[in-house]
Amino acid sequence: MTSEMHPQRWGDPAAAVALPDTARGLVELAFGGIRDASAVAAPADELPSLDDALLDGLRAVVGAEHVLTDTATRALRTRGKSTPDLLRARAGDLTDAPDVVVRPADAAEVEALVAFAVEHHLALVPFGGGTSVTGGLVARREGFAGVVSLDLVRLDRLVAVDPVSMTATLEPGLRGPAAEALLAEHGLTLGHYPQSFEHASIGGFAATRSSGQASAGYGRFDALVVGLTVVTPSGVLTLGSAPADAAGPDLRQLVLGSEGTLGVITSVTVRVRRLPAVKVYDGWRWPSFAAGSDAMRTLAQAGLLPTVIRLSDETETAINLADPDSIGAGGDAGCLMVVGHEGEPSAVAARRAAVAVVLTGLGGTDLGEEPGRAWEHGRFHAPYLRDSLLDVGVLVETLETATFWSQRQGLYDAVRAALVGSLGEGALVLCHVSHVYETGCSLYFTVAARQAEDPLAQWAAAKAAASDAIIAAGATITHHHAVGTDHKPWFAREIGPVGVQVLRAVKDSLDPTGVLNPGVLIP
Ligand SMILES: Cc1cc2nc3c(=O)[nH]c(=O)nc-3n(C[C@H](O)[C@H](O)[C@H](O)COP(=O)(O)OP(=O)(O)OC[C@H]3O[C@@H](n4cnc5c(N)ncnc54)[C@H](O)[C@@H]3O)c2cc1C
Repeated sequence: MTSEMHPQRWGDPAAAVALPDTARGLVELAFGGIRDASAVAAPADELPSLDDALLDGLRAVVGAEHVLTDTATRALRTRGKSTPDLLRARAGDLTDAPDVVVRPADAAEVEALVAFAVEHHLALVPFGGGTSVTGGLVARREGFAGVVSLDLVRLDRLVAVDPVSMTATLEPGLRGPAAEALLAEHGLTLGHYPQSFEHASIGGFAATRSSGQASAGYGRFDALVVGLTVVTPSGVLTLGSAPADAAGPDLRQLVLGSEGTLGVITSVTVRVRRLPAVKVYDGWRWPSFAAGSDAMRTLAQAGLLPTVIRLSDETETAINLADPDSIGAGGDAGCLMVVGHEGEPSAVAARRAAVAVVLTGLGGTDLGEEPGRAWEHGRFHAPYLRDSLLDVGVLVETLETATFWSQRQGLYDAVRAALVGSLGEGALVLCHVSHVYETGCSLYFTVAARQAEDPLAQWAAAKAAASDAIIAAGATITHHHAVGTDHKPWFAREIGPVGVQVLRAVKDSLDPTGVLNPGVLIP
């Protein structure tokens, strides 16, 4: 099993970072000074609990030692890790805490727990790594006998490897590093590296349709999934019997992104690749974000995408966000692109050279491996920095969307304007592209502003303004963070009334009493 995250901060408590001097300087300059906002309120000692008969029923399924009611364990299963989640945790607010945390050992125990939840009308919240940033773990309590967090941490096995077909079957509770370590024993990799990699789980990746930093080379997580087993209140769904088929609509796509509302994913079969012998990440400079984006589009449409491709806009480049260890150190003018190649040495060399020819021809400047190495070194550090910035009175949060190439500039301008309009001219709005397709790309915004008296209301207003701008621009409310509870109103506008009707019908069919993650995803 993996170590627990910090209850009020991101990640491993031992890996917390102090704010670098460069970043302190930036805070002084941009937000008028450092102030101490690091106080953490103690949570209430007594939280409501399930009655003893229900607890005994759960103990009969998973064993007494896997039915946990202590405040510390429940606090760690309360909400996820968005900035509002962290602010509420720092304020000692455990109003969304589950009544109990249960840890089944296997799929059979999951089936028994789902049946128990239906029988006793308990809300059941599947819990993977707890890294949701969209309120995906905040189940509606009203109308239920209680809220049970279904922690999948003990389902942590590599079930099977098929080295001929290049697939592997994994259990959902495996965190990113553990899954990669098990696959590495067979010389294989999944290649899925979201920024939350160190703590997020295989089941969570599938349930949220996650996308990793190497999505250009390995694909989004939903593109890696070839099969799934899902326990629903109506029975077990086993999906994926061939690499491709025409056997009606692809039901796997109903489960991918279903965020625990249709069933509990108990195994995931994924396409795997050979561990790359070589990994090389180069830096390229572009005169503008538009020029760099056009270069990304050219590579994608020429079938020349590298494994990793990421482009920071002018502000993100100037702040140096691609290298969190020296954030605020100030890059040169223009926009930084990181271009990474992974694979066999000869294939990497050939692709690297071909990409370099195209990028040079389009006006890019080759900066060599130094910026790429800095990005690689700091690729999982930025979330730790968010806590250090919250500590000194800076509000930091991110949001993401995606659109077609022809709409990219309009979407970028609209979201920036909405964020600055809400947070004021003093706010810093940074953006990068890190997921690229032949037809379009994602835009990932990072926002920093001086914390207002009520930072939760401050961010809610800014996020609503940005979300309205995203939907008005015809883009998606989420490229990879999923819907949860936070995005629901805009998700409903995105898919329209017939889309909502379809989702509700599926929910009613698979989970007729609505016990699975009530209030999440389904409008
Ligand atoms: C700092 C940070 C960086 C991030 N970076 C990225 C990124 O680069 N790319 C990206 O895609 N996302 C990113 N995220 C978002 C988040 O990590 C992803 O959504 C991730 O896939 C969630 O996985 P998890 O195991 O933590 O799921 P959880 O947070 O535990 O759960 C998420 C949702 O899935 C449901 N769920 C979990 N497991 C199962 C299961 N076995 N069966 C059914 N439902 C289940 C839950 O009920 C919940 O609704 C980031 C989040 C943070 C905090």
